[in-house]
Amino acid sequence: MREIEDDAVVLRTYKSGESDRVVVLWTREFGKVRVFAKGIRKVTSKLGGTLEALAYVRVQLVQTRGELYVARHVEHRERLTTLRTSYERINAGYAVVEVVDAIPSDDVADEGIFDLLTRVLLTLDDPSFDPSLVPASFFFRLLALDGSEPVVDQCVNCGREGPLVSFDAQVGGTLCASCRSGHTLSPEGLELIRRIVGGDLASVLRETSLPGAGEVMMIAQDSIEAHFGRRLRVARSTAPLTPRHDR
Ligand SMILES: [Zn+2]
Repeated sequence: MREIEDDAVVLRTYKSGESDRVVVLWTREFGKVRVFAKGIRKVTSKLGGTLEALAYVRVQLVQTRGELYVARHVEHRERLTTLRTSYERINAGYAVVEVVDAIPSDDVADEGIFDLLTRVLLTLDDPSFDPSLVPASFFFRLLALDGSEPVVDQCVNCGREGPLVSFDAQVGGTLCASCRSGHTLSPEGLELIRRIVGGDLASVLRETSLPGAGEVMMIAQDSIEAHFGRRLRVARSTAPLTPRHDR
């Protein structure tokens, strides 16, 4: 029987039978792991509080039948109390874990993803940061890990430096007026996306109501969906309802 001990983030849980759940974890060393949590839905379960979505935990697991593990011991690494008391922060967290859950890499470890994920949770738990642009910035970081960071310093089609007027996730970057496709991009949206991709994230997240934020969220969402080739339900529902142009 394989036994593992590792840090992990709970991506999601789903019901199994009367009182059980399957818990999907992203672990630091072992990638995505599924845990069969017997009796977790009973009020007396000791696991209930620790194995819920967005929990950052330390786990001892034992592999049972097939791919499933059972939990021998679980404890919080971080309690994330600020995150847990805000719908906006929780929803931002859900948008992030849903995308990680969509990464097609069962049992493939990726410490880079684990580190990004835990950094996102700690950022969402920090009251000095505004949560609204956290998913968008996470999506861009994830694309960068995969070598698919969007081009935002020139026209991705012809190389012209500007003016850049749109962003097209299908071609992976900003476009000039002659090549334009995708979403219209305002000068404010362009500046913001450059700050986020260029590493000025900490100061971006300390500001609220940034001009262009809605555009950047939409673009980040489109980019991650184009990357995975499918629509992501939760993430989409937290994006702002901005009308789409040039489609
Ligand atoms: Zn062009």
